[in-house]
Amino acid sequence: MEKETVSRNFIEQIIDKDLAEGSYETICTRFPPEPNGYLHIGHAKSILLNYGIAKKYGGKFNLRFDDTNPTKEKTEFVDSILADVKWLGADFEDRLFFASNYFEQMYEAAVKLIKKGKAFVCDLSADEIREYRGTLTEPGKESPYRNRSIEENLELFENMKNGMYEDGTKVLRAKIDMASPNINMRDPVIYRVAHMTHHNTGDKWCIYPMYDFAHPIEDAIEGVTHSICTLEFEDHRPLYDWVVREVGYEHPPKQIEFAKLYLTNVVTGKRYIKKLVEQGIVDGWDDPRLVTIAALKRRGFTPESIQMFVDLCGISKSQSSVDYAMLEYCIREDLKLKRPRMMAVLDPVKLVIDNYPEDQIEYLDVEMNLENPELGMRKVPFGRELYIEREDFMENPPKKYFRLFPGNEVLLMGAYFVKCVGFEKDETGKVTEIHCTYDPETKCGTGFTGRKVKGTIHWVAAKTAVHAQVRLYENIIDETKGVYNEDGSLNLNPNSLTVLDNCLLEPAFAEAKPYDSFQFVRQGYFCVDAKDSKEDALVFNRIVSLKSSFKLPKA
Ligand code: ATP
Ligand code: MG
Repeated sequence: MEKETVSRNFIEQIIDKDLAEGSYETICTRFPPEPNGYLHIGHAKSILLNYGIAKKYGGKFNLRFDDTNPTKEKTEFVDSILADVKWLGADFEDRLFFASNYFEQMYEAAVKLIKKGKAFVCDLSADEIREYRGTLTEPGKESPYRNRSIEENLELFENMKNGMYEDGTKVLRAKIDMASPNINMRDPVIYRVAHMTHHNTGDKWCIYPMYDFAHPIEDAIEGVTHSICTLEFEDHRPLYDWVVREVGYEHPPKQIEFAKLYLTNVVTGKRYIKKLVEQGIVDGWDDPRLVTIAALKRRGFTPESIQMFVDLCGISKSQSSVDYAMLEYCIREDLKLKRPRMMAVLDPVKLVIDNYPEDQIEYLDVEMNLENPELGMRKVPFGRELYIEREDFMENPPKKYFRLFPGNEVLLMGAYFVKCVGFEKDETGKVTEIHCTYDPETKCGTGFTGRKVKGTIHWVAAKTAVHAQVRLYENIIDETKGVYNEDGSLNLNPNSLTVLDNCLLEPAFAEAKPYDSFQFVRQGYFCVDAKDSKEDALVFNRIVSLKSSFKLPKA
């Protein structure tokens, strides 16, 4: 864990200095997603970082769709991003912006550059531009169109706007320095011709600005002070600064880069997630095995757990991967005291209490959460026929097995001691029924101290049990064998989804609504699946098991 999490992180240090020196009076940050896919955990980090800084400094946080490239953008993605940012609690108030609403100002900025002799229309093809650009060790060559007159450039650029040229035949380039050691400064393309319909502006434009030109202008128009982005833009910062300076903004925004968040064992890149969705390998962008925000929400993660995770990760300048187990740690910590702990049997086998009255059902009072009395009590029905977990019974147990086996006595959680007096098997050797006797003296909550047992198991009364499907997940990528196969395809874990169709739950679960989450005692945390669960056919996702390999490092 970086030190920055304890003291102020390096971004806050920059802001402190800027405020002290009077470079800015108030702080404004933004989250600028491109609506070309769903947001993932990495974006959550960026959202909470930007929002957190604005909040901490009493400033503003903008949500801006960076929708300057009509090829891949869709309204579906705009809607999902809005929902995700709101769910995370990053409040942008009334500051929801679309970069495409600034196309006019961007066009004017380009005209201004042309008039200053700082931009020119170039007829080289994309391949030629690449050839002329040079390499890291060799300077580039100037375009033969570089010295067109301002008048000619103005006319050609207007013609570009008016649709007189085919896609790819002309571009507008900044006139900077073909010998610059930074390739981004070698007369970068700032506008291209693209006859495409835009999701917001329709067919109004057939020229579109390039990211490196558009982004600083968007920030400047909105009065963003600190434009926080990821490390791959570090080499673009000189161009960012060039644009705000040459276009002439009075209060230029400042770009600051930090390292992207990567998680081990999961697919974080939008490109790869898209592949999994498009190839039908997962059940949509919100498949609970993914780490899109929509998937995390569906799986049962909470905004609080994601905030905790982002805080633990800290902010850094050096690239690293975080263990998925840390995210699991955060959701366990968040749900531990907040959620009821109730009984669910995932792989049921029948248990009959031979000495319990045939038709009797009694209602036992059981704590919702032993560690948090504020959640109160619930009634749990108990009867002669119960279900227990198949793995909680063994005919021939090994040493140190303290659960049920012939002759052994265990506590049925919240109920009575029962002793195994026999069992039945079918012709394949599978146990079909276990017989016990119970001791009425041992009823929980009566202060019985007569004797102790070593094992406690959970159970559900047969007559009142609620039926459910439970889905268990593992990471979709088996990282021990590498993320990719030799042919470049993703190395998928064939066991990433296990569906258990015959789970039996105590009746208090019947009320469960989509996104409700619970601890299933001894099993883990589970959440009602919002997509597939029905009132009469409950479906639960396992968020996380109870066991953890993750230890919080000492501060
Ligand atoms: P991806 O690489 O997953 O396709 P992207 O960077 O193309 O993501 P954008 O919509 O352009 O996605 O990103 C919006 C913001 O989120 C940017 O400021 C970007 O730097 C930030 N961001 C993207 N991925 C991560 C990540 N893994 N960790 C932190 N911030 C990220
Ligand atoms: Mg991007």
